[in-house]
Amino acid sequence: MRNEFVLVPASEARAVHVASGGRFRVVDIEGGQVVDLFAFAAGDVGEYASAEHTRVAVNRLFPRVGEAFVTNRRRPILWLEKDDSPGVHDMLCAACDPVRYRLLGVDGWHPSCQENLQRVMAGLGHDRIEVPQPINLFMAVRVEPDGSFIWSSAPTKAGDGVVLRAALDCVVVASACPQDRNEINHYRPTSIGIQLL
Ligand SMILES: [Zn+2]
Repeated sequence: MRNEFVLVPASEARAVHVASGGRFRVVDIEGGQVVDLFAFAAGDVGEYASAEHTRVAVNRLFPRVGEAFVTNRRRPILWLEKDDSPGVHDMLCAACDPVRYRLLGVDGWHPSCQENLQRVMAGLGHDRIEVPQPINLFMAVRVEPDGSFIWSSAPTKAGDGVVLRAALDCVVVASACPQDRNEINHYRPTSIGIQLL
């Protein structure tokens, strides 16, 4: 699996198994694309990377190099080892889902990170999973002093990425967010990649 490159086509998701201590790089191939990243403990998918537990563990709203993402059982699952992107990531927003698109005025089906995750995990035999609040790599959400959010477009350039190291044997799912109804992906969802190091 070493050095394997997994292409995640625009608006789709892919899973990789990463052994404890294994490293991988998530790359924004064309730039300007948000990645919804999920990680589940391989031995028990009831344990997963949890943004809300991570915010408590690191006393921050957003990830920083050298810190861990922790699970809903408060154990480190991924370390953010290196960041050669602008360093803008989100840990506040739920994954997009069919209702979100309906509320944004979409008529009919629209791909979403939630369905992407569920489809990929079902393909691995996990038909019923919690949908965790993801780690939204490259997603630009700023919190104002009054608590309001400002959304902007992902500031990444082509080839920007982050390197993560697994603290547990885990299943990592990366979804190339299909959001095209607001600015986060510049209204143009594109592909991402997972490089196993
Ligand atoms: Zn999404």
